[in-house]
Amino acid sequence: MNAPSVAVTMTLGGHPAVGSAAPVPVEDPATGDVFAYAPACTPQELDTAVAAAALAAPGWAASDEDERRARLRACGAALAGCLDEVAGLLSREQGKPLRNAQAEVQLSADWFGHTAELTLAPEVLEDTDTSCIGLERVPHGVVAAIAPSNFPLILSVCKIAPALLAGNTVVLKPSPQTPLSTLRMGEALRDHLPPGVLNVVSGDHDLGAGLTSHPAIGMISFTGSVATGRAIARGAAERFLPVVLELGGNDPAIVLPGADVDALAPRLFQAALANSGQFCAAVKRVYVHRDQTARLAELLADLAGCAVVGAGADPASEFGPLVSREQLGRVAALVDDAVARGARVLSGGKPLGGPGHFYPPTVVVDLPEGTELELEEQFGPVIPVIAYDDVDEAVGRANSTQYGLGASLWGDEDLADELAGRLDAGTVWIDTHGDLRHNVPFSGTGSSGRGAEYGYWGLLEYTRIKVRHRARVAGRRPAGGASSAAHDRPGER
Ligand code: NAD
Repeated sequence: MNAPSVAVTMTLGGHPAVGSAAPVPVEDPATGDVFAYAPACTPQELDTAVAAAALAAPGWAASDEDERRARLRACGAALAGCLDEVAGLLSREQGKPLRNAQAEVQLSADWFGHTAELTLAPEVLEDTDTSCIGLERVPHGVVAAIAPSNFPLILSVCKIAPALLAGNTVVLKPSPQTPLSTLRMGEALRDHLPPGVLNVVSGDHDLGAGLTSHPAIGMISFTGSVATGRAIARGAAERFLPVVLELGGNDPAIVLPGADVDALAPRLFQAALANSGQFCAAVKRVYVHRDQTARLAELLADLAGCAVVGAGADPASEFGPLVSREQLGRVAALVDDAVARGARVLSGGKPLGGPGHFYPPTVVVDLPEGTELELEEQFGPVIPVIAYDDVDEAVGRANSTQYGLGASLWGDEDLADELAGRLDAGTVWIDTHGDLRHNVPFSGTGSSGRGAEYGYWGLLEYTRIKVRHRARVAGRRPAGGASSAAHDRPGER
Protein backbone atom coordinates (compact mmCIF):
# COMPACT_ATOMS: atom_id res chain seq x y z
CA MET A 1 0.00 0.00 0.00
CA ASN A 2 2.03 2.97 -1.27
CA ALA A 3 -0.50 5.79 -1.17
CA PRO A 4 -0.31 8.13 1.78
CA SER A 5 -3.08 7.59 4.27
CA VAL A 6 -5.31 10.35 5.62
CA ALA A 7 -5.71 9.90 9.35
CA VAL A 8 -9.48 10.01 9.62
CA THR A 9 -11.34 7.59 11.83
CA MET A 10 -14.78 6.11 12.01
CA THR A 11 -16.95 6.96 14.99
CA LEU A 12 -18.30 3.94 16.85
CA GLY A 13 -20.09 4.46 20.15
CA GLY A 14 -18.45 7.86 20.56
CA HIS A 15 -14.94 6.46 20.06
CA PRO A 16 -12.54 6.67 17.14
CA ALA A 17 -12.08 3.40 15.24
CA VAL A 18 -9.57 2.65 12.50
CA GLY A 19 -11.48 -0.42 11.25
CA SER A 20 -10.18 -3.95 10.85
CA ALA A 21 -11.27 -4.60 7.27
CA ALA A 22 -8.99 -3.84 4.31
CA PRO A 23 -8.89 -0.03 3.95
CA VAL A 24 -10.81 1.55 1.08
CA PRO A 25 -8.65 3.29 -1.56
CA VAL A 26 -9.88 6.80 -2.29
CA GLU A 27 -9.11 8.30 -5.69
CA ASP A 28 -8.44 11.87 -6.62
CA PRO A 29 -10.76 12.16 -9.66
CA ALA A 30 -8.57 14.90 -11.11
CA THR A 31 -5.65 12.50 -11.50
CA GLY A 32 -7.16 9.04 -11.20
CA ASP A 33 -4.57 8.26 -8.51
CA VAL A 34 -5.33 6.83 -5.10
CA PHE A 35 -4.38 9.57 -2.65
CA ALA A 36 -5.63 8.06 0.60
CA TYR A 37 -7.10 5.02 2.23
CA ALA A 38 -10.23 5.24 4.33
CA PRO A 39 -10.89 2.95 7.25
CA ALA A 40 -13.29 0.10 6.62
CA CYS A 41 -15.32 -1.74 9.18
CA THR A 42 -15.96 -5.45 9.48
CA PRO A 43 -19.45 -6.89 10.00
CA GLN A 44 -18.57 -7.19 13.71
CA GLU A 45 -17.63 -3.51 13.86
CA LEU A 46 -20.87 -2.63 12.10
CA ASP A 47 -22.66 -4.61 14.84
CA THR A 48 -20.78 -2.54 17.42
CA ALA A 49 -21.93 0.70 15.77
CA VAL A 50 -25.56 -0.38 15.52
CA ALA A 51 -25.53 -1.76 19.07
CA ALA A 52 -24.12 1.54 20.35
CA ALA A 53 -26.87 3.43 18.51
CA ALA A 54 -29.53 1.08 19.90
CA LEU A 55 -28.18 1.46 23.43
CA ALA A 56 -28.15 5.25 23.19
CA ALA A 57 -31.60 5.46 21.57
CA PRO A 58 -33.93 5.40 24.63
CA GLY A 59 -31.95 8.04 26.51
CA TRP A 60 -31.65 10.29 23.48
CA ALA A 61 -35.36 9.94 22.66
CA ALA A 62 -36.22 10.84 26.26
CA SER A 63 -33.91 13.85 26.32
CA ASP A 64 -35.38 17.33 26.22
CA GLU A 65 -36.01 18.61 22.68
CA ASP A 66 -34.31 21.89 23.58
CA GLU A 67 -31.21 19.98 24.64
CA ARG A 68 -31.16 18.22 21.29
CA ARG A 69 -31.55 21.60 19.60
CA ALA A 70 -28.60 23.00 21.51
CA ARG A 71 -26.49 20.01 20.54
CA LEU A 72 -27.38 20.42 16.88
CA ARG A 73 -26.25 24.04 17.05
CA ALA A 74 -23.01 22.92 18.69
CA CYS A 75 -22.53 20.37 15.88
CA GLY A 76 -22.96 23.15 13.31
CA ALA A 77 -20.40 25.30 15.10
CA ALA A 78 -17.96 22.38 15.36
CA LEU A 79 -18.25 21.69 11.64
CA ALA A 80 -17.81 25.36 10.79
CA GLY A 81 -14.71 25.28 12.99
CA CYS A 82 -12.98 22.79 10.68
CA LEU A 83 -14.47 24.10 7.44
CA ASP A 84 -11.23 24.42 5.51
CA GLU A 85 -9.96 20.99 6.45
CA VAL A 86 -13.24 19.25 5.60
CA ALA A 87 -13.60 21.24 2.38
CA GLY A 88 -10.08 20.29 1.34
CA LEU A 89 -10.89 16.59 1.72
CA LEU A 90 -14.24 17.02 -0.02
CA SER A 91 -12.74 18.80 -3.02
CA ARG A 92 -9.95 16.24 -3.33
CA GLU A 93 -12.12 13.11 -3.10
CA GLN A 94 -15.16 14.37 -5.04
CA GLY A 95 -13.39 16.60 -7.54
CA LYS A 96 -15.48 19.76 -7.11
CA PRO A 97 -13.79 23.17 -7.08
CA LEU A 98 -12.52 24.07 -3.62
CA ARG A 99 -14.79 27.11 -3.27
CA ASN A 100 -17.82 24.90 -4.01
CA ALA A 101 -16.62 22.42 -1.41
CA GLN A 102 -16.27 25.26 1.09
CA ALA A 103 -19.80 26.38 0.29
CA GLU A 104 -21.08 22.83 0.82
CA VAL A 105 -19.41 22.59 4.24
CA GLN A 106 -20.78 26.01 5.24
CA LEU A 107 -24.27 25.01 4.08
CA SER A 108 -23.98 21.78 6.08
CA ALA A 109 -22.94 23.69 9.20
CA ASP A 110 -25.85 26.11 8.71
CA TRP A 111 -28.24 23.21 8.14
CA PHE A 112 -27.75 22.05 11.73
CA GLY A 113 -28.87 25.51 12.83
CA HIS A 114 -31.87 25.59 10.48
CA THR A 115 -32.96 22.16 11.68
CA ALA A 116 -32.65 23.28 15.29
CA GLU A 117 -35.37 25.86 14.56
CA LEU A 118 -37.93 23.17 13.79
CA THR A 119 -40.29 21.77 16.38
CA LEU A 120 -42.33 18.63 16.84
CA ALA A 121 -44.98 19.88 19.21
CA PRO A 122 -47.76 17.44 20.10
CA GLU A 123 -51.16 18.21 18.62
CA VAL A 124 -54.56 18.09 20.25
CA LEU A 125 -57.04 16.41 17.93
CA GLU A 126 -60.01 16.57 20.26
CA ASP A 127 -60.51 17.99 23.74
CA THR A 128 -64.11 17.67 24.91
CA ASP A 129 -66.07 16.70 28.00
CA THR A 130 -65.98 13.07 26.90
CA SER A 131 -62.52 12.60 25.44
CA CYS A 132 -59.09 14.03 25.10
CA ILE A 133 -57.14 12.87 22.06
CA GLY A 134 -53.59 13.92 21.44
CA LEU A 135 -51.13 13.11 18.71
CA GLU A 136 -47.42 13.00 19.25
CA ARG A 137 -44.50 12.15 17.02
CA VAL A 138 -42.09 9.52 18.27
CA PRO A 139 -38.74 8.49 16.79
CA HIS A 140 -38.14 5.26 14.87
CA GLY A 141 -35.09 4.26 16.92
CA VAL A 142 -31.87 3.66 14.99
CA VAL A 143 -31.77 5.33 11.57
CA ALA A 144 -29.51 3.91 8.86
CA ALA A 145 -28.41 6.95 6.85
CA ILE A 146 -26.72 6.28 3.51
CA ALA A 147 -25.28 9.07 1.39
CA PRO A 148 -24.13 9.30 -2.25
CA SER A 149 -20.93 10.63 -3.77
CA ASN A 150 -22.06 13.90 -5.39
CA PHE A 151 -22.76 16.07 -2.33
CA PRO A 152 -21.50 13.76 0.41
CA LEU A 153 -21.55 16.22 3.26
CA ILE A 154 -24.78 18.18 2.87
CA LEU A 155 -26.71 15.05 1.90
CA SER A 156 -25.48 13.41 5.12
CA VAL A 157 -26.32 16.41 7.28
CA CYS A 158 -29.83 16.79 5.88
CA LYS A 159 -30.43 13.27 7.18
CA ILE A 160 -28.64 13.25 10.50
CA ALA A 161 -29.81 16.69 11.72
CA PRO A 162 -33.57 15.98 11.51
CA ALA A 163 -33.11 12.36 12.57
CA LEU A 164 -31.33 13.50 15.74
CA LEU A 165 -33.76 16.33 16.46
CA ALA A 166 -36.65 13.86 16.28
CA GLY A 167 -34.92 11.71 18.91
CA ASN A 168 -33.44 8.96 16.74
CA THR A 169 -29.88 7.77 16.89
CA VAL A 170 -27.98 7.32 13.64
CA VAL A 171 -25.50 5.09 11.87
CA LEU A 172 -24.23 7.06 8.89
CA LYS A 173 -22.42 5.53 5.93
CA PRO A 174 -20.84 7.69 3.21
CA SER A 175 -20.04 6.49 -0.30
CA PRO A 176 -16.76 4.58 -0.59
CA GLN A 177 -15.81 7.09 -3.32
CA THR A 178 -16.12 10.06 -0.96
CA PRO A 179 -15.79 8.87 2.66
CA LEU A 180 -13.10 11.19 4.04
CA SER A 181 -14.97 14.46 4.52
CA THR A 182 -17.87 12.69 6.23
CA LEU A 183 -15.57 10.74 8.53
CA ARG A 184 -13.79 13.98 9.43
CA MET A 185 -17.14 15.57 10.19
CA GLY A 186 -17.93 12.61 12.47
CA GLU A 187 -14.74 13.32 14.39
CA ALA A 188 -15.66 16.99 14.77
CA LEU A 189 -19.14 16.14 16.06
CA ARG A 190 -18.00 13.39 18.43
CA ASP A 191 -17.58 15.61 21.49
CA HIS A 192 -20.91 17.33 20.98
CA LEU A 193 -23.20 14.31 21.14
CA PRO A 194 -23.58 11.55 23.75
CA PRO A 195 -21.73 8.32 22.85
CA GLY A 196 -23.61 6.18 20.36
CA VAL A 197 -25.99 8.91 19.21
CA LEU A 198 -24.12 9.41 15.92
CA ASN A 199 -21.95 6.63 14.52
CA VAL A 200 -20.09 7.02 11.25
CA VAL A 201 -18.91 3.86 9.53
CA SER A 202 -17.12 3.40 6.24
CA GLY A 203 -16.48 0.55 3.86
CA ASP A 204 -17.53 -0.64 0.42
CA HIS A 205 -21.05 -0.98 -1.01
CA ASP A 206 -21.57 -4.27 0.86
CA LEU A 207 -21.40 -2.35 4.11
CA GLY A 208 -24.46 -0.38 2.97
CA ALA A 209 -26.34 -3.63 2.39
CA GLY A 210 -25.19 -4.91 5.79
CA LEU A 211 -26.39 -1.73 7.46
CA THR A 212 -29.82 -1.55 5.83
CA SER A 213 -30.52 -5.23 6.53
CA HIS A 214 -29.37 -5.05 10.15
CA PRO A 215 -32.14 -6.29 12.44
CA ALA A 216 -31.72 -3.43 14.94
CA ILE A 217 -32.40 -0.68 12.37
CA GLY A 218 -35.74 1.13 12.72
CA MET A 219 -35.69 3.27 9.60
CA ILE A 220 -33.64 3.82 6.44
CA SER A 221 -32.88 7.17 4.90
CA PHE A 222 -31.15 6.73 1.57
CA THR A 223 -29.97 9.04 -1.18
CA GLY A 224 -28.44 7.49 -4.27
CA SER A 225 -29.20 5.70 -7.50
CA VAL A 226 -32.49 4.10 -8.51
CA ALA A 227 -30.91 0.64 -8.64
CA THR A 228 -29.60 0.83 -5.07
CA GLY A 229 -32.84 2.43 -3.87
CA ARG A 230 -34.82 -0.43 -5.38
CA ALA A 231 -32.63 -3.03 -3.63
CA ILE A 232 -33.06 -1.20 -0.32
CA ALA A 233 -36.82 -0.85 -0.75
CA ARG A 234 -37.14 -4.56 -1.45
CA GLY A 235 -35.31 -5.46 1.76
CA ALA A 236 -37.19 -2.88 3.81
CA ALA A 237 -40.54 -4.18 2.57
CA GLU A 238 -39.81 -7.59 4.09
CA ARG A 239 -39.65 -5.95 7.50
CA PHE A 240 -42.12 -3.11 6.90
CA LEU A 241 -39.34 -0.65 7.69
CA PRO A 242 -40.06 3.00 6.97
CA VAL A 243 -37.83 4.38 4.24
CA VAL A 244 -37.03 7.70 2.67
CA LEU A 245 -35.58 7.20 -0.79
CA GLU A 246 -34.16 10.18 -2.65
CA LEU A 247 -33.15 8.69 -5.98
CA GLY A 248 -32.05 9.63 -9.45
CA GLY A 249 -33.50 12.33 -11.64
CA ASN A 250 -33.64 13.21 -15.32
CA ASP A 251 -35.06 16.69 -15.03
CA PRO A 252 -36.57 18.32 -18.12
CA ALA A 253 -36.54 22.08 -18.71
CA ILE A 254 -39.19 23.32 -21.14
CA VAL A 255 -38.43 26.65 -22.77
CA LEU A 256 -41.82 28.03 -23.76
CA PRO A 257 -42.48 29.57 -27.21
CA GLY A 258 -41.28 33.15 -27.47
CA ALA A 259 -39.07 32.99 -24.36
CA ASP A 260 -36.06 35.28 -24.27
CA VAL A 261 -33.50 32.56 -24.93
CA ASP A 262 -30.57 35.00 -24.96
CA ALA A 263 -31.39 36.01 -21.39
CA LEU A 264 -32.13 32.56 -20.03
CA ALA A 265 -29.30 30.60 -21.68
CA PRO A 266 -26.65 31.36 -19.03
CA ARG A 267 -29.04 30.39 -16.21
CA LEU A 268 -30.08 27.23 -17.97
CA PHE A 269 -26.41 26.38 -18.55
CA GLN A 270 -25.60 26.77 -14.84
CA ALA A 271 -28.67 24.74 -13.88
CA ALA A 272 -27.48 21.89 -16.11
CA LEU A 273 -23.79 22.05 -15.24
CA ALA A 274 -23.99 22.40 -11.45
CA ASN A 275 -21.42 20.04 -9.90
CA SER A 276 -20.48 19.04 -13.47
CA GLY A 277 -24.00 17.69 -13.94
CA GLN A 278 -23.63 15.36 -10.95
CA PHE A 279 -26.63 16.88 -9.23
CA CYS A 280 -29.88 14.96 -8.95
CA ALA A 281 -31.88 18.09 -9.74
CA ALA A 282 -29.71 19.41 -12.57
CA VAL A 283 -31.38 20.12 -15.90
CA LYS A 284 -30.76 16.96 -17.93
CA ARG A 285 -32.88 17.68 -21.02
CA VAL A 286 -33.89 20.99 -22.62
CA TYR A 287 -37.03 21.12 -24.77
CA VAL A 288 -37.33 24.27 -26.85
CA HIS A 289 -39.67 25.35 -29.65
CA ARG A 290 -38.29 24.46 -33.06
CA ASP A 291 -38.14 28.15 -34.06
CA GLN A 292 -35.68 28.85 -31.25
CA THR A 293 -33.76 25.58 -31.07
CA ALA A 294 -30.80 26.68 -33.19
CA ARG A 295 -30.34 29.95 -31.31
CA LEU A 296 -30.53 28.40 -27.84
CA ALA A 297 -28.25 25.51 -28.80
CA GLU A 298 -25.71 27.97 -30.23
CA LEU A 299 -25.78 30.06 -27.04
CA LEU A 300 -25.35 26.99 -24.82
CA ALA A 301 -22.55 25.65 -27.04
CA ASP A 302 -20.73 29.00 -26.76
CA LEU A 303 -20.99 28.86 -22.97
CA ALA A 304 -19.80 25.24 -22.98
CA GLY A 305 -16.83 26.16 -25.17
CA CYS A 306 -15.73 28.90 -22.76
CA ALA A 307 -16.18 26.90 -19.53
CA VAL A 308 -13.04 26.26 -17.52
CA VAL A 309 -12.75 22.58 -16.64
CA GLY A 310 -10.02 21.56 -14.25
CA ALA A 311 -8.94 20.13 -10.93
CA GLY A 312 -10.81 21.24 -7.85
CA ALA A 313 -7.62 22.63 -6.36
CA ASP A 314 -7.09 25.01 -9.30
CA PRO A 315 -8.80 28.33 -8.39
CA ALA A 316 -9.56 28.93 -12.08
CA SER A 317 -11.67 25.76 -12.38
CA GLU A 318 -15.39 26.23 -12.81
CA PHE A 319 -16.17 22.58 -13.33
CA GLY A 320 -14.33 19.61 -11.89
CA PRO A 321 -13.97 16.03 -13.12
CA LEU A 322 -16.58 13.32 -12.81
CA VAL A 323 -16.27 11.37 -9.59
CA SER A 324 -15.06 8.09 -11.11
CA ARG A 325 -13.79 6.44 -14.26
CA GLU A 326 -16.97 4.39 -14.32
CA GLN A 327 -19.12 7.52 -14.35
CA LEU A 328 -16.95 9.04 -17.09
CA GLY A 329 -17.44 5.89 -19.15
CA ARG A 330 -21.20 6.01 -18.66
CA VAL A 331 -21.51 9.61 -19.85
CA ALA A 332 -19.23 8.98 -22.84
CA ALA A 333 -21.20 5.87 -23.82
CA LEU A 334 -24.55 7.71 -23.70
CA VAL A 335 -23.25 10.52 -25.92
CA ASP A 336 -21.60 8.06 -28.35
CA ASP A 337 -24.85 6.12 -28.58
CA ALA A 338 -26.82 9.30 -29.32
CA VAL A 339 -24.33 10.28 -32.05
CA ALA A 340 -24.51 6.80 -33.56
CA ARG A 341 -28.28 7.29 -33.80
CA GLY A 342 -27.95 10.62 -35.62
CA ALA A 343 -27.47 13.28 -32.94
CA ARG A 344 -24.96 16.09 -33.52
CA VAL A 345 -22.49 17.41 -30.95
CA LEU A 346 -22.09 21.21 -30.99
CA SER A 347 -19.52 21.39 -28.22
CA GLY A 348 -17.51 18.82 -26.25
CA GLY A 349 -18.61 15.25 -26.84
CA LYS A 350 -15.47 13.29 -25.92
CA PRO A 351 -13.60 12.76 -22.65
CA LEU A 352 -10.69 15.16 -22.28
CA GLY A 353 -7.43 13.33 -22.80
CA GLY A 354 -4.86 12.94 -20.07
CA PRO A 355 -5.21 11.84 -16.48
CA GLY A 356 -8.37 12.29 -14.46
CA HIS A 357 -12.03 11.76 -15.21
CA PHE A 358 -12.69 14.94 -17.17
CA TYR A 359 -15.61 15.28 -19.55
CA PRO A 360 -16.21 18.72 -21.05
CA PRO A 361 -19.52 20.56 -21.00
CA THR A 362 -21.31 19.14 -24.01
CA VAL A 363 -24.26 20.29 -26.10
CA VAL A 364 -26.08 17.78 -28.28
CA VAL A 365 -28.83 18.48 -30.84
CA ASP A 366 -30.99 16.44 -33.27
CA LEU A 367 -31.46 13.71 -30.68
CA PRO A 368 -33.85 11.09 -32.08
CA GLU A 369 -36.80 10.52 -29.73
CA GLY A 370 -36.28 7.69 -27.27
CA THR A 371 -32.48 7.59 -27.17
CA GLU A 372 -31.02 6.61 -23.81
CA LEU A 373 -29.51 10.08 -23.46
CA GLU A 374 -33.05 11.42 -23.33
CA LEU A 375 -34.63 8.66 -21.25
CA GLU A 376 -31.93 7.76 -18.71
CA GLU A 377 -30.14 9.81 -16.08
CA GLN A 378 -26.70 10.64 -17.48
CA PHE A 379 -25.39 12.37 -14.34
CA GLY A 380 -22.83 14.33 -16.29
CA PRO A 381 -22.22 17.69 -18.02
CA VAL A 382 -24.29 17.00 -21.13
CA ILE A 383 -27.15 19.19 -22.37
CA PRO A 384 -29.39 17.62 -25.00
CA VAL A 385 -31.33 20.42 -26.73
CA ILE A 386 -34.50 18.93 -28.18
CA ALA A 387 -36.91 20.66 -30.58
CA TYR A 388 -40.68 20.51 -30.15
CA ASP A 389 -43.50 21.82 -32.32
CA ASP A 390 -46.18 22.36 -29.68
CA VAL A 391 -46.17 22.47 -25.90
CA ASP A 392 -48.30 19.33 -25.55
CA GLU A 393 -45.56 17.42 -27.32
CA ALA A 394 -42.98 18.97 -24.97
CA VAL A 395 -44.97 18.01 -21.88
CA GLY A 396 -45.43 14.48 -23.22
CA ARG A 397 -41.70 14.01 -23.81
CA ALA A 398 -40.84 15.61 -20.48
CA ASN A 399 -43.09 13.06 -18.77
CA SER A 400 -41.88 10.12 -20.84
CA THR A 401 -39.20 8.79 -18.47
CA GLN A 402 -39.35 6.69 -15.32
CA TYR A 403 -38.16 9.70 -13.25
CA GLY A 404 -40.06 12.47 -11.53
CA LEU A 405 -37.73 14.57 -9.43
CA GLY A 406 -37.74 18.13 -10.77
CA ALA A 407 -38.86 19.94 -13.91
CA SER A 408 -38.93 23.53 -15.03
CA LEU A 409 -40.77 25.88 -17.34
CA TRP A 410 -39.14 29.02 -18.73
CA GLY A 411 -40.93 31.98 -20.29
CA ASP A 412 -44.62 32.95 -20.50
CA GLU A 413 -45.84 33.08 -16.90
CA ASP A 414 -49.49 32.19 -17.56
CA LEU A 415 -48.65 29.28 -19.82
CA ALA A 416 -46.06 28.06 -17.29
CA ASP A 417 -48.68 28.09 -14.52
CA GLU A 418 -51.06 26.18 -16.74
CA LEU A 419 -48.51 23.51 -17.66
CA ALA A 420 -46.93 23.12 -14.21
CA GLY A 421 -49.75 20.88 -13.03
CA ARG A 422 -49.24 18.53 -15.96
CA LEU A 423 -45.59 17.78 -15.26
CA ASP A 424 -44.87 14.60 -13.31
CA ALA A 425 -42.33 15.86 -10.79
CA GLY A 426 -41.93 16.47 -7.09
CA THR A 427 -40.95 20.08 -7.80
CA VAL A 428 -41.81 22.26 -10.78
CA TRP A 429 -39.72 25.42 -10.97
CA ILE A 430 -40.67 28.38 -13.13
CA ASP A 431 -37.86 30.50 -14.59
CA THR A 432 -35.33 28.72 -12.40
CA HIS A 433 -34.27 25.13 -11.74
CA GLY A 434 -32.68 23.15 -8.91
CA ASP A 435 -33.20 25.88 -6.32
CA LEU A 436 -33.32 23.75 -3.14
CA ARG A 437 -33.99 25.34 0.24
CA HIS A 438 -33.83 24.18 3.83
CA ASN A 439 -37.43 25.22 4.51
CA VAL A 440 -39.00 23.74 1.36
CA PRO A 441 -39.66 19.99 1.02
CA PHE A 442 -37.90 18.11 -1.74
CA SER A 443 -39.20 14.79 -2.98
CA GLY A 444 -39.49 12.69 -6.07
CA THR A 445 -42.20 10.68 -7.73
CA GLY A 446 -41.94 7.55 -9.90
CA SER A 447 -38.45 6.04 -9.81
CA SER A 448 -37.07 9.23 -8.23
CA GLY A 449 -38.13 7.90 -4.88
CA ARG A 450 -40.53 8.34 -2.04
CA GLY A 451 -40.76 10.51 1.05
CA ALA A 452 -39.56 14.06 1.54
CA GLU A 453 -36.45 15.71 2.80
CA TYR A 454 -35.86 19.22 4.19
CA GLY A 455 -37.81 21.40 6.57
CA TYR A 456 -40.74 20.32 8.69
CA TRP A 457 -41.91 17.75 6.12
CA GLY A 458 -38.49 16.12 6.11
CA LEU A 459 -38.44 16.07 9.90
CA LEU A 460 -41.77 14.23 10.00
CA GLU A 461 -40.23 11.32 8.07
CA TYR A 462 -38.02 10.58 11.06
CA THR A 463 -41.05 10.05 13.28
CA ARG A 464 -44.09 7.89 13.50
CA ILE A 465 -47.48 8.95 14.78
CA LYS A 466 -48.58 7.96 18.27
CA VAL A 467 -52.06 8.75 19.52
CA ARG A 468 -53.04 9.09 23.16
CA HIS A 469 -56.80 8.81 23.60
CA ARG A 470 -58.27 9.36 27.04
CA ALA A 471 -61.95 8.89 27.78
CA ARG A 472 -63.38 11.36 30.30
CA VAL A 473 -65.74 9.76 32.72
CA ALA A 474 -68.93 11.69 33.61
CA GLY A 475 -67.81 14.70 31.62
CA ARG A 476 -65.02 15.57 34.07
CA ARG A 477 -62.63 17.88 32.27
CA PRO A 478 -59.41 19.02 33.95
CA ALA A 479 -58.93 22.78 34.36
CA GLY A 480 -56.85 24.18 31.50
CA GLY A 481 -57.45 21.13 29.28
CA ALA A 482 -54.87 19.27 27.20
CA SER A 483 -54.54 22.10 24.72
CA SER A 484 -52.61 24.19 27.22
CA ALA A 485 -49.68 21.78 26.84
CA ALA A 486 -49.80 21.43 23.08
CA HIS A 487 -49.59 23.50 19.96
CA ASP A 488 -52.45 23.35 17.53
CA ARG A 489 -50.19 23.61 14.55
CA PRO A 490 -46.67 22.21 14.60
CA GLY A 491 -43.83 23.34 12.38
CA GLU A 492 -41.47 26.27 12.70
CA ARG A 493 -41.00 27.67 16.16
P1 NAD B 1 -25.14 4.79 -5.43
O1 NAD B 1 -26.51 4.23 -5.42
O2 NAD B 1 -24.09 4.09 -6.22
O3 NAD B 1 -24.55 4.84 -3.94
C1 NAD B 1 -25.19 5.56 -2.92
C2 NAD B 1 -24.85 4.95 -1.57
O4 NAD B 1 -25.44 3.65 -1.47
C3 NAD B 1 -23.35 4.76 -1.33
O5 NAD B 1 -23.07 5.10 0.01
C4 NAD B 1 -23.18 3.26 -1.55
O6 NAD B 1 -22.07 2.71 -0.89
C5 NAD B 1 -24.48 2.72 -0.99
N1 NAD B 1 -24.86 1.38 -1.46
C6 NAD B 1 -24.49 0.76 -2.60
N2 NAD B 1 -25.10 -0.45 -2.69
C7 NAD B 1 -25.87 -0.57 -1.59
C8 NAD B 1 -26.77 -1.56 -1.12
N3 NAD B 1 -27.00 -2.69 -1.81
N4 NAD B 1 -27.43 -1.35 0.03
C9 NAD B 1 -27.25 -0.20 0.72
N5 NAD B 1 -26.40 0.78 0.34
C10 NAD B 1 -25.72 0.60 -0.81
O7 NAD B 1 -25.27 6.33 -5.85
P2 NAD B 1 -24.12 7.40 -6.16
O8 NAD B 1 -23.51 7.08 -7.48
O9 NAD B 1 -23.25 7.57 -4.99
O10 NAD B 1 -24.98 8.74 -6.30
C11 NAD B 1 -25.51 9.18 -7.49
C12 NAD B 1 -27.00 8.92 -7.55
O11 NAD B 1 -27.65 9.53 -6.44
C13 NAD B 1 -27.63 9.54 -8.78
O12 NAD B 1 -28.57 8.65 -9.33
C14 NAD B 1 -28.33 10.78 -8.22
O13 NAD B 1 -29.40 11.25 -8.99
C15 NAD B 1 -28.78 10.27 -6.88
N6 NAD B 1 -29.04 11.40 -5.98
C16 NAD B 1 -30.34 11.69 -5.66
C17 NAD B 1 -30.63 12.78 -4.85
C18 NAD B 1 -32.04 13.14 -4.46
O14 NAD B 1 -32.22 13.94 -3.55
N7 NAD B 1 -33.06 12.59 -5.10
C19 NAD B 1 -29.58 13.57 -4.37
C20 NAD B 1 -28.28 13.25 -4.73
C21 NAD B 1 -28.02 12.15 -5.53
